[in-house]
Amino acid sequence: MTTPRYKRILLKLSGEALMGDQGFGISPSMIKYVAREIRSITDIGCEVAVVVGGGNIFRGIAASSYNMDRASADHMGMLATVINSLALQDALEHSGVQTRVQTAISMHEVAEPYILRRAVRHLEKGRVVIFAAGTGNPYFTTDTAAVLRAQEIHAEMLMKATKVDGLYDSDPAINENAAFIKHISYMSVLERQLKVMDMTAISLAMDNDLPLVVFNLSDEGSMLRVVCGESVGSRIDN
Ligand code: UDP
Repeated sequence: MTTPRYKRILLKLSGEALMGDQGFGISPSMIKYVAREIRSITDIGCEVAVVVGGGNIFRGIAASSYNMDRASADHMGMLATVINSLALQDALEHSGVQTRVQTAISMHEVAEPYILRRAVRHLEKGRVVIFAAGTGNPYFTTDTAAVLRAQEIHAEMLMKATKVDGLYDSDPAINENAAFIKHISYMSVLERQLKVMDMTAISLAMDNDLPLVVFNLSDEGSMLRVVCGESVGSRIDN
């Protein structure tokens, strides 16, 4: 059997990653694909926690266009992450992976509350734990929640799934001459204001020495290759 290079990781999936080719919501085929990819790493004994975004449903930053208070809009965004988390839990369990959802905003009828020690126990038993509702606080993002939870559970690495092969010096969808960056320090990411995660998330990861690997989710098998220690995507560390 293949041995994982990393024993415990945290995977950050944006809401858009679940959208597939649709303009909104959750693509059934995409969520099944994501579940299969996650199963490929739990099958080799890697402990997996997941933070899912909500951008495929609602982003708090849209508050101004609705003339809403930002905190209310962010609460809506956090609830969107719960919808995605429940969909992912269902897809994972259909693929035979035991999964628990823990929410940073209590909703006992729907999911467990976030309890660190209980989350770690689930991971030790081989269950995937999905952390929903971000940090539970408005004005944050799920990238920051991912860095925070990764540290709390002592994940060895944060994996950020994207639509492109990794980190570029500009958006490759806009600039065809965008240069690929294989390895870079957090400090350089901050100085060059590269768009990989928001500044709060980057600073938190830098201060706590958490390595980040950015990889292409649609490249089948890439999640497994990252966990096995292959040089896939871009790596950011200190
Ligand atoms: N959000 C929040 N606090 C958090 C995490 C998320 O208020 O700790 C809200 C915020 O409104 C955000 C939305 O939830 O726009 C969805 O999260 P995010 O934009 O990070 O999702 P992604 O871009 O990864 O799909």
